[in-house]
Amino acid sequence: MRYEIIWDNEAKHAVCVTDEGAVFICLPTDVDESVAEKVYARYEEEIQKQVAMRKAVIEGRRNINYNFKPLVWGERFEIRKSEDDTSYVDYDAKCFVLPSKLRGYHIRNFLKHFYTRAAQVELERMIKARSVEMGLHYREFRVSQKPQPFGSCDDSGRIMLSYTLAMTSKEFAESVVIHELAHLKYFDHSNDFTRLVEIHCPDYDQIDAQGCSYEVMLRAEGWVKEDKRKWIEA
Ligand SMILES: [Zn+2]
Repeated sequence: MRYEIIWDNEAKHAVCVTDEGAVFICLPTDVDESVAEKVYARYEEEIQKQVAMRKAVIEGRRNINYNFKPLVWGERFEIRKSEDDTSYVDYDAKCFVLPSKLRGYHIRNFLKHFYTRAAQVELERMIKARSVEMGLHYREFRVSQKPQPFGSCDDSGRIMLSYTLAMTSKEFAESVVIHELAHLKYFDHSNDFTRLVEIHCPDYDQIDAQGCSYEVMLRAEGWVKEDKRKWIEA
């Protein structure tokens, strides 16, 4: 497997170029290529997994059929049929009716609605529990309709978490919640901040690294629009 280093505004990315596409690894801005190689060696297994996942996503887009099942944190939600032949999904005692015109645009709107609801329910539960555990109190919590960033916290104590977290994993969502709550105490990414995050999420480093792969997945699925950055494809 080959990799190349590219730059963007925020971070240096090591890009592993494979037959199936590219996987991005986030690196601090001040490292050189030998570090990228070490990171790659360390995460090789994870990278292979993400490449396989991405391949599946791209395959799925190619053969568009709408026999999809919404997936929230690894759990698939069954699509049921009512007596009048309407398709619907049950979630949190709420019924989501599938559009009868099964065009990509309608499906996307349906899924966005569904994921927003799932994120609202699941993330609210999560942030309440973690807030008590960490002894840090937010002023307001909202699910953001933007696909990125995954989370933000402003200096008035308002935390926003993206609906796209429902498409990631529970452990990743949890790490974002902890990260944003920690900003209530430290507004930077200082050592004190990192120490606090790692008390509540010991594998933070490793879990946080998944963020790049989820970003790639969201782009591949069309949730995040391509930016001007040139993505290297094999
Ligand atoms: Zn932060």
